[in-house]
This record gives sequence, structure tokens and C-alpha cells, in this order.
Amino acid sequence: MLKRQKTGATGHMDTLYPLVMGERNGWLGGDGDQWERGPYWIDGLLPLAYILDDKELKNKVQPWVEWALKSQQPNGFFGPAKDYPGEEGIQRDNSADWWPRMVVLKILQQYYSATGDKRVVDFLTKYFKYQLETLPNQPLGKWTFWAEYRECDNLQAVYWLYNITGDTFLLDLGNLLHKQGHDFTHMFLETNHMACQGSIHCVNLAQGLKEPIIYYQQSGDKKYKEALTKGFADIKKFNGQAQGMYGGDEPLHGNNPTQGVELCAIVEMMYSLEKMIEITGDLSMVDHIEKIAFNALPTQVTDDFMHKQYFQQANQVMLTRHRRNFYEDDSHAGTDLLYGTLTGYPCCFSNMHQGWPKFTQNLWYATPDGGLAALIFSPSEVTAKVANNIDVCITENTYYPMDNKIRFTIDILDKKVRSVNFPFHIRIPGWTKGASITINGVSYKTADGGKIEIINRDWKKGDYVELEMPMEVKVEEGWHENSVSIERGPLVYALKIGEDWQKKEVSDAEKNRYGESYWEVRPTTKWNYGLHRLDFKKANELIRTNIDNEKIKSDYPWNLSNAPIELKVNAKIIPTWGLYNEMAGPIPHSWSGAGEGEPEEITLIPYGCTTLRISQFPLVY
Ligand SMILES: [Zn+2]
Repeated sequence: MLKRQKTGATGHMDTLYPLVMGERNGWLGGDGDQWERGPYWIDGLLPLAYILDDKELKNKVQPWVEWALKSQQPNGFFGPAKDYPGEEGIQRDNSADWWPRMVVLKILQQYYSATGDKRVVDFLTKYFKYQLETLPNQPLGKWTFWAEYRECDNLQAVYWLYNITGDTFLLDLGNLLHKQGHDFTHMFLETNHMACQGSIHCVNLAQGLKEPIIYYQQSGDKKYKEALTKGFADIKKFNGQAQGMYGGDEPLHGNNPTQGVELCAIVEMMYSLEKMIEITGDLSMVDHIEKIAFNALPTQVTDDFMHKQYFQQANQVMLTRHRRNFYEDDSHAGTDLLYGTLTGYPCCFSNMHQGWPKFTQNLWYATPDGGLAALIFSPSEVTAKVANNIDVCITENTYYPMDNKIRFTIDILDKKVRSVNFPFHIRIPGWTKGASITINGVSYKTADGGKIEIINRDWKKGDYVELEMPMEVKVEEGWHENSVSIERGPLVYALKIGEDWQKKEVSDAEKNRYGESYWEVRPTTKWNYGLHRLDFKKANELIRTNIDNEKIKSDYPWNLSNAPIELKVNAKIIPTWGLYNEMAGPIPHSWSGAGEGEPEEITLIPYGCTTLRISQFPLVY
């Protein structure tokens, strides 16, 4: 996936989107776009460049880093500070806004982590002193409300620097930022905003929901943890969709499976979960990020990582240029669901790059007991210091999430060290029961899900640990109109629908707004099925699983033809469930008896492999 990003849009935004990402960008000193989009791209390109250790990509990043560092004024302020008159397709005002600077803080943190460039520490110290002095008179909301809702991105950078320098003024700044930011703790605990459509912008929610946990590090008050627990529960209850996200197109828009899920909300929610997992180690959050990464994320960008959807739907049966039922219908001329570059709104095309590289950064965690934790699973290799500064390398081999087996192989990098004693923490996902762990082929333990297994021993070079996690088919209940979704392990399954892709050119008059071209996708097979007499308790027996042992090894399973797993389940057509505004019409309430004819066997495949899908099904007799 990371290599696809390099050859796809992430590696080429400067030529694909020169109006914004070219040398006129304000973050390169130009008179063009002065706001968030340039920094958004670099926030994804920088970790991609360093994870791939790719010189060409690093060379694209460096001018942005250098310009930001050199733009710092004696008082600590940095970045563009001059507004320009409006010009179609670029954002030239609010140049002094606190918000886009928060994205640059995230860039510089990652740059420091990758390079150790000490200029970053001095730079941030100066800027945070400037913030502490200036915010009382020029508060977060002075230019736009985005900075107030996204204050925790600023706050997490302040605490990150505090953990490096220990400067106590940073804690004063922490309190000030928390006070000026939107009060997510109050919103989750004391208001009904999660039950109110339009109460908050979907990306502000994805970013801001971590604020209580970020600030908890300083305050220690358990109400901040309680706020997040209630917030997550209410988001799911009132707005939840089967792929782990929520209806928000852009304002929060309830739990109908045809409401939009914005790509920015997906990558920002993943970043929020990553930051919170660092602090809490909460395993339900690890399960949650895998659900989003392995279901919602792969399908919203094309296989070549060149085109994206601004919105996706849990029940998505037709991607055409048409009005639907989104808050944004009037603003983007019916382009919200298309696979394009600037279709919908250009924020997602600029911001989508951070999803996979940051996910990769967060597969492994250091633990306070001098060990290592494998929390999020993917094929990877980590080099780290354990115990008393001994360098080890652990290689994770797996076809997860398609397969249920993982093998970790340990290497000690210092040839003189024969063995090293350190605790190896392995997450057992919440969805499994009876996971087995073997060490060097010998059975070690059976473990239930939702906890960490800590293996303490003298590790030698070549030792290996194998984890096998039984995946049972389960029914997730309680979605909109009592619809259900089907899960197996970390994957959500959706109806396999034939796809007809057609490329359309954008007229010259619209190219600045919607890009050169876009893809429409129409269904070639029926989609209006209800699941027939599904006994939830027997789902694992009633729903048959077919696994293709060759396809499972694909390094890119995320499309219709590569899907390695099929589930077979009985269903009936619901004739009254049809198209409405070129999307799946109102979903019939479960058990309303609307199914007709004989039951037939339908095929479900992993959600992330689908482009068109039903993932929330009504139930029929
Ligand atoms: Zn967006």
C-alpha cells in the first residue's frame, strides 16, 4: 500500500495538483494557497518518505520543512502571514490562523522523530512561548472556528515537547489551550449533541474526540476518560455505520447507512486513535482502528492511489454524478461520491496521505517495562532497544487481516549478545476466543480476546512466536432500522456487487473545481437483499466461509477480483427496496416481512474489497 502511495497521488501531488501544491504555495513562501492543504499533504508524504527510506520523496519534503523552520520570526511566530484576494480553487485568506500551524506541528514532530534534527526542539520551544504570550489576546477562535475544535492537535505537540525538554511553561500553555478549545468533555458528558444531526462537523469530531484523553495526561481527572467512553458509545448509537465510522457529510448526519462518511474523518479518526492508544493502551481502541483501517480506508481510494471518494456509504450501490441526501449536495454539483481528484471538496485529496503511513508508524509500541508491544497487526519489521539498551529486530510475517496467523521472529543485532531477557507484549484481539500461542513450535498458551499476553523469557536469535486467532462469523445488531452487519475477525463483510466503471472527462469550465476526470460506478447485479431467517446464535454455522489459500497471499487483496474470502448466506430479494436519488432507498425495517420468492444464496466479501456494497442488511422471513 505504501509503495502504491509513492507511485500514486502521494508521490506526485506537486504535479497532479500544482495550483495548490506547487511552488506558489504559501508554505513555500508563495502567493498561492496559504492554509491547510499544503501541510496536509506533507503530513502524509513525510512519514511515507522516511518509512520507505526513499530519497526522491525526502527531497520533495525537505523544502517544506526548511521553509517552515526559516519562516520563524524573532517573536516565535512562523508560517505565512499575508492574506491575498480570493482566487478560484485556492485558499488565500486566514493566513495567520492558528489551525494550519497545528498540521505543521505534526509534520515537525515526525521530522524530528525521523532525523533527530535539533532545530525542531528550539523552534517549537520558541513558538510555544509565543503562543503562551499571544493566545490571551488572540485566542484560538480569532480567525476560524477550526482551531478551537482541533486544539488537541496543538496540545499533543506541546506535551510531546514537554516529554523532551521538561520546560514547565509548556504545562501552562497546555491549560490555556485546553481552556480555549471546544469543550468535548462537556459535550460528551452533559449534552445530547451526538444525538443531534448537524451539531458538529464530522472531521472536527474525528480530531477533537481525543482532546479529553490528551488533556487527561496533565489533569489526571477520570472524568476525561469517562467522557470519551460515553462519546464513543453515543457516536455509534446515533450515527454509527458498520465500517466503524459514522454518518457525517460534513455535519454529523445520523445513522442511515446511505449518509456520507468523509475520507478526512477516516484518516483523522485513525490518528486520534493512534494518539490515544499511546496514552491508554486501551485494546478496544486497537480493535477500532483495525476496523477502520481494514474496512473503511482501503475502499475509499482507487487501487492505484490516484483517485478518492470524498464520501463513502455503508450501503453504496451507485456512484454517479447526482444529488443525494447530503448536507453538501448544493455545494459540489453532485460529485460527492465519485472517484476523482478534486471531486466533492479538495480537503480529502490533500489529507488522505497520512492514513497508511501513520498506521504503519503505530504498529509497535515501547512498553514501560523495557519491552515491546505488538498492538496493531500488519506485516512489518521493527528495530528497537529493549532491556538494557540491547538492539533487537522483530519481523512480523502474516497475511492478516485476511489470514488469522501471525509469526514473529526475533533477532538480536549485537552479535556478542547471546540472549536478552525482555517482555514481549502481544495483543489478543477482542473478537477472538481461544487464541493459541506457540514459541519455537511448542505450545505455550491459549488466551481469550481483549487482553495482552506478556511473554517474559530469555530471547535468542531466531526464536519465533506464532499466534493463531480463531475467527468466527458474528452478527452485529442494532444499526439503523434494526439492520445487521456481518463480521469475521477484524473484517466486516458486504454483498458482492458487480461493478461497471466508466471514466468521464470534466468540462473545461469545471476543471479547476473538480479535476480532469472522474470515475462513475454502476451495479451490474442485484443488491436489494434481506438476510433470510438468520439465527444470530448460529451465525458461525449458518454462514459458510470459503477461503482461497492462494488469493490470501496477495499483497493487494483490496478489490473485487482479489477478494480472498467469501461468506455464503441465505437471502431474499426485497422488491420494494429500490433506488432513491441514485442510492439505496430507505432501508426496510428488519422483520417487516418484505422478502419475496425463494431464498437464494448470496456472496459476501470483505468490505474493503468492495466498491459497491450492502453492509447493513435488513432481516426477512
Ligand atoms: Zn475531506
